[in-house]
Amino acid sequence: MNYEQLIQNFLSIMANELSPNDFEIVKQNIRKISIKFLEKESMSTSGLYNPNGLITLHRKDEVTFYHELFHASSSYYDENKLVLNSGFHHQHINEKKDIGRGFNEGYTELLTQRYFGKNGDSGYSNELHYAKLIEHLIGKEQMQSFYFKSSLDDLITEMCKYNSLENVLKFIENMDKFIILTELKENKIHSFSENTPFTEYSKWFDELNEYVNQTYNELNQFIIESHLNKLYNDSDYEKKKAELMAMMSTPLSFNFREYSFNIDLQMSGNNRTI
Ligand SMILES: [Zn+2]
Repeated sequence: MNYEQLIQNFLSIMANELSPNDFEIVKQNIRKISIKFLEKESMSTSGLYNPNGLITLHRKDEVTFYHELFHASSSYYDENKLVLNSGFHHQHINEKKDIGRGFNEGYTELLTQRYFGKNGDSGYSNELHYAKLIEHLIGKEQMQSFYFKSSLDDLITEMCKYNSLENVLKFIENMDKFIILTELKENKIHSFSENTPFTEYSKWFDELNEYVNQTYNELNQFIIESHLNKLYNDSDYEKKKAELMAMMSTPLSFNFREYSFNIDLQMSGNNRTI
């Protein structure tokens, strides 16, 4: 792969698509990167970005590289607050506080697919689905701008126009659960031995499924509530509601299991809440 050429291609597409201010951020950040290729068969990630500018790739494919370039374009370290900001992911170094990881991966993947296409399964299809619905709620230009400025606070403020702060924070926290549960599941599988009774094994996975299903329902509930609050009094209410339902009706999957939702039913139980 010719990284230099891919970077040039990335910059020329971003120059066309982004506002001059957002593009300036991208340009400054891309200047700082360095790239390393590490062959590791068993890695679950295909690429990594570290906010000092290093991109580590485990798979040589262009789409993975573009995904990492988006992380690189939207990251900075706040030395005063000791916070690592990367898009919508904020990590407090000393307090071990971490917020927005799932949301950030979903939106990074959305941008990658929008501008550079898709290459197999990124592993973030749930996060992407909900990030797309939030973009639908607050608007593409605004959301892209918050992402490159790495301003989770602006995103939260905007989302609070349509729901309570408590629900917004819960939504962002729920978006992290797919990544957390995937890691937990991998550790759990390693802890099972040949002698583990099947009942114990299946009980754990039943509980996992139950929990995932509940998470999906809470995420859907938030999306529905927020959109209906926004659409309240809209002259095109029925049309926009149908559009939302179509976007939400895609079946989602976690751990090889498909989950589908009765959006009509979830929506009909909803009244304007704020
Ligand atoms: Zn990523």
